[in-house]
Amino acid sequence: MASFGFRRHVIVSRSLRLLTLPLLQSSTTRRFSSTAVPAQPQLESVGFIGLGNMGFHMASNLINAGYKVTTYDINSAAMKKFSDKGICTKETAGEIAESSDVVITMLPSSSNVLDVYTGQDGLLSSGSHLRPWLFIDSSTIDPQTSRVLSNKISKYLLKEKKGYVENPIMLDAPVSGGVLAAEAGTLTFMVGGMEEACIAAKPLFSSMGKNTIYCGGNGNGVAAKLCNNLAMAVSMLGISEALALGQNLGIPASTLTKVFNSSSARCWSSDSYNPVPGVMEGVPSARNYDGGFTSKLMAKDLSLAMSAAAEVGFKCPITSEAHSIYRKMCEEGFVLKDFSCVFRHYYSGKDED
Ligand code: NAD
Repeated sequence: MASFGFRRHVIVSRSLRLLTLPLLQSSTTRRFSSTAVPAQPQLESVGFIGLGNMGFHMASNLINAGYKVTTYDINSAAMKKFSDKGICTKETAGEIAESSDVVITMLPSSSNVLDVYTGQDGLLSSGSHLRPWLFIDSSTIDPQTSRVLSNKISKYLLKEKKGYVENPIMLDAPVSGGVLAAEAGTLTFMVGGMEEACIAAKPLFSSMGKNTIYCGGNGNGVAAKLCNNLAMAVSMLGISEALALGQNLGIPASTLTKVFNSSSARCWSSDSYNPVPGVMEGVPSARNYDGGFTSKLMAKDLSLAMSAAAEVGFKCPITSEAHSIYRKMCEEGFVLKDFSCVFRHYYSGKDED
């Protein structure tokens, strides 16, 4: 269990405040650069918001690791799973902020994240009583919203706290790995924001995942996540297209998979997540494409990648094509099927005998 001594309100010394306040008041630039990780960052009380497919397991792993977790979700059934086990639940995000050292959010979309942070009764609604020194957003959202939000957090609090030196920090820390990795505690976190905060929060990440990769400033974690999923979507389409073409040319998928896996086409989609039913065990294609990363989430991530590309004037024709294929999958009823179902439902590939 990670505990770092006394509460941060107590440990930040008076002398540090006295030393820093004149600097804070002297220029706006200095004010915002004064945001710093507390000398002994508290991680003991963790507020967790968004207890869905991913968040349920992530919060459970934190509880199993010994953290004092308080939960909130708009869906009361999701909260009941925790209250039934004696875990503290709250009625609003604002109440979570009043009782937590660190808050983690795991929500479906950018609008949900903005709502939870800046909406009525949201995380920032308690103003000068706000307690957390760190906000970690693990949702997959667009980098721009993430950057605007982290900026808003520091400005908002500086105003509310009248120059108080302890401005909270925000990290974007989306994950790769899906529901099974969330349950097993083997997620990969891609972290954007202040590096010292990422280092301080490492015990939390390590309780929920096996890899934490620091990616740079705010928004870079989600940018990395979108690039990763773009590459994953395109490689899955390429492998599916090639395996289906192979079948049409008379080569069994298992034979072609052996060729790929010992040649230059080898990739995660061919050797770890093969889309052809009957080629590999333990993957979604072996169970009718259930229980993986849904076509809906893949379409969402590709849409976010396209918006992020548009923001910086970057052309991404392959992303656009992949997005229209996954959107078609969703329209045709495969919304909740694993994204590797394109092999069967888009390319009309055949199961391996
Ligand atoms: P989910 O829909 O299962 O869960 C989201 C939860 O957030 C729900 O319980 C919902 O009630 C809650 N919620 C929504 N709005 C809220 C609000 N305003 N206040 C409080 N709670 C609110 O989603 P998920 O599959 O757990 O995914 C969460 C995030 O993780 C998404 O951004 C997704 O893209 C990302 N992600 C998902 C996977 C996956 O395999 N499911 C993998 C990697 C990343």
